[in-house]
Amino acid sequence: TEKINRLRNKYHIHIKGSNPPDPLETFNEMKTKYGINSQVFDNLFSCGYNIPTPIQMQAIPVMASGRSVMACAQTGSGKTSAFLLPIIRDLKKPKAKGFRAVILCPTRELAKQTQRECLRLVDGLGLRVHILSKVNQAESRYGEKSNKKFDILITTPNRVCYLLSEEPVALDLTSVKWLILDEADKLFEEGKNGFREQFDQIYKACSRSSLKVGLFSATWTNAVAKWCRRNIKGFLTITIGQRNS
Ligand code: ADP
Ligand code: MG
Repeated sequence: TEKINRLRNKYHIHIKGSNPPDPLETFNEMKTKYGINSQVFDNLFSCGYNIPTPIQMQAIPVMASGRSVMACAQTGSGKTSAFLLPIIRDLKKPKAKGFRAVILCPTRELAKQTQRECLRLVDGLGLRVHILSKVNQAESRYGEKSNKKFDILITTPNRVCYLLSEEPVALDLTSVKWLILDEADKLFEEGKNGFREQFDQIYKACSRSSLKVGLFSATWTNAVAKWCRRNIKGFLTITIGQRNS
């Protein structure tokens, strides 16, 4: 534990909550400790990622241990892969169960960027990473009676809510294991009250009892922390550097 404390201090990793897993110091530990597919490991190096960033060091083991997380680290610190890698590790290979992970982004542009990064990391695994495009065809593609041959959904909250309110429901979220809110601080901002209702609606539609949630932000915000305390049990809070709210 002395060694772990030194590691956390060195990278300014703060973690709160019960039984936090140790941070990783190298991506190799994802293989040795968490059994990540070696294809993903190779993809990381193709992306030019040689060592994990501090948020990746701590968020990957937290999510790989099946824990919900509220994570705060500044812009440009590698938060995207911090949540994508443990999700990819958990989903392993394609299944015909419908979406098992949903990543909510504030804008369509960010959703596309996140999809690009995800596609690079899943190269060779066959996992299907979708962005909701043709809303009018969604029910047959993503509803209860669809073929369910898709794994990861990356989208804005608006689109999800629109499809959830269709009759019959045009997006089946009952297999979702991971719900990620990227840029949670922005989406929870004051004056965006409509968003909270949207997020609650999406959270409810992800009805699997073992659902895990990850809220990722650039700054620590009380609104996000409050939502976590109210809704998720046993979550861990990770902050990198100063708590700059
Ligand atoms: P954030 O979401 O925290 O703002 P991003 O996930 O967009 O940050 O990552 C910022 C940049 O850092 C991107 O260009 C990404 O490709 C790169 N990056 C992410 N992780 C690593 C890593 N471990 N090593 C090197 N570069 C990385
Ligand atoms: Mg980001």
